[in-house]
Amino acid sequence: MQTEQQPCAVAEELSGYLDNELSQQEQQRVMIHLRNCPHCQQLLTEMQAMRTDMKVAVHVSADTRDLPQILGDKPARWLGLLGWSALILGVLLVASFFFWELAVDLVTNASIPWWVRFGIAGLYLGLLGLFLMVLRQRLVAMKTDKYRKVKL
Ligand SMILES: [Zn+2]
Repeated sequence: MQTEQQPCAVAEELSGYLDNELSQQEQQRVMIHLRNCPHCQQLLTEMQAMRTDMKVAVHVSADTRDLPQILGDKPARWLGLLGWSALILGVLLVASFFFWELAVDLVTNASIPWWVRFGIAGLYLGLLGLFLMVLRQRLVAMKTDKYRKVKL
């Protein structure tokens, strides 16, 4: 007869018993012992509870692994793209309004030499041309790779 302080001989085999790693003979031996030993029954219950906790933990970490997928969520991406587009459009419109006013002022100001006005007009046309070129490149890049983040 075993006392509670002394662990049973089958205690070491309980893990294997849970995982079905024991031979049929060993399995039966553990089963018979479990029927008569409350100590090992409790141990087995605790081990089963621990395994369930571990399974839950593994499941949670699997959810964490899915995080990149959540971050790559398409509607969220489109909302982000929409926000950025609206912001950039707003900045461009406001900036072009001020630059246009300035340009009109400078070009129509008769006190400024004609060649300076010509230079300013050229500067603006050049900037506009470069901007349109970059914009077109971006649009072409977007068409070829719709899912890539648009960087301006
Ligand atoms: Zn026992």
